[in-house]
Amino acid sequence: MNAAEWAVKISDDILAAAVRRIRPRQDYEKIHASSIGDPCPRWLYYELTQAREKAAITPEKQLLFEGGHWQAEATMADLRAAGYTPLAQEVVYDVAVPGGKISGMVDFFLELDGQRYPCEHKGLSYGMSEVDDWRDMLDSSRRWIRRYPAQVQTYLYQTNSEEGLMLLRGKESCQVRILPVSLDYEYVEGLLKKAEDVFLHATFGEPPDRIPYAQGWCNAATCDYHHLCQPEQAIVTDQEGIVLDEALVLMVNDYLGLESAIARGTKLKAAITAMAKALGPRTLLIGEGVIMTEMKKRRCKAVEAKAAHVEEYLQTKIKNSNRSNNNGNEEDDGPGE
Ligand code: SF4
Repeated sequence: MNAAEWAVKISDDILAAAVRRIRPRQDYEKIHASSIGDPCPRWLYYELTQAREKAAITPEKQLLFEGGHWQAEATMADLRAAGYTPLAQEVVYDVAVPGGKISGMVDFFLELDGQRYPCEHKGLSYGMSEVDDWRDMLDSSRRWIRRYPAQVQTYLYQTNSEEGLMLLRGKESCQVRILPVSLDYEYVEGLLKKAEDVFLHATFGEPPDRIPYAQGWCNAATCDYHHLCQPEQAIVTDQEGIVLDEALVLMVNDYLGLESAIARGTKLKAAITAMAKALGPRTLLIGEGVIMTEMKKRRCKAVEAKAAHVEEYLQTKIKNSNRSNNNGNEEDDGPGE
C-alpha cells in the first residue's frame, strides 16, 4: 500500500476500533443528573423507559465522548501543575424523589481553605465566549449545554454544598475558564418536581406531552428519541393540509418577517462598523445607538506573526442607548474582523 492508501486504512481502523468500544445501550432505573436539565420531559421519560431504543452512538460521537474524558484529565493535570489537588472519587450520589431518584457522579472535588467544592468539568468545542455565568447555559442554542447547569446544581444539592465550580475547557484553545456556582434552591426544586412527574408518567407507562415543536428541539439531529416520539405526526392539519398549530404558524410567520430584516441588518451593521472603525477608537452617539470602538489585543495564529505574539485590532459594539441591558441588541464583530 502507498501512503494515501495507508491514510485511508488507518482512519478507517480508528473508527472501527471506536465502534468496538461503544457499550450497548441499557435501560435506566434512575434519571441521571446529566439528563435532568433537558428541555423536554418526554425525552426524559424515554431515557428512563426506552434507552435501548435511543439513536445509535456513531464512532465519531464515541470519539467525542472519549475526548471529553481526556479533556478533564488534561484540566486536572493543569490543576496539579498549579499546585492544587483535585480529588476524584468513584462515588455515586443520589437524591430521592417520589417514584425514583436522580443519580450522578461528581467529576472531582477541590479542597480550598478547608472547604470542599464539587467540580464539574466540561469541554466545549464552541460557545465559550457565550458563557460568563452558569445561568448563561440555560439559554444555550445547544441542547446538551442546556443540561449542564442542572447537573452541577444537582451535585451541589446531593453533596450538601453551598458552592461549587464549573471548569470549562475550550477544545480548540485548551484554555480553562472557571465559573463559580452557588446552590440555587428554587431551581433545584424545579428539577426535583420535574423528575417526580417523569417517574409518575413512567409508572403509568404514559409519556408526558410533547414540547411545542416550535421550540426547535424536535428533530432527529437534536433529539435521540425523535424516531419513537414522531412529533411531526402530532402536527394538526385540516383537510387541505393547512397547519392549525398556532405556535408553528407564528414560527413560520416570524421567520418570514425576519428573513429580509436579518439580511438588511447584516448589511447595515457592516456599514456602521466600517464607519466606526474609520473614525478610530471612540464612542459615538447616533440616533438611539451607542457605537463603541476600542483597541483590543489578540493572540496571533499566523506563523509569520508569531514573533509579535499579540496584535491590536479595533472592536466595535453597537448598542441601543435606551436600554440598560444588552438584550440581544449588542453587536460585537469580535476579533478577526
Ligand atoms: S421529539 Fe420533541 S417532544 Fe419528542 S421527545 Fe424529542 S424533544 Fe421531546
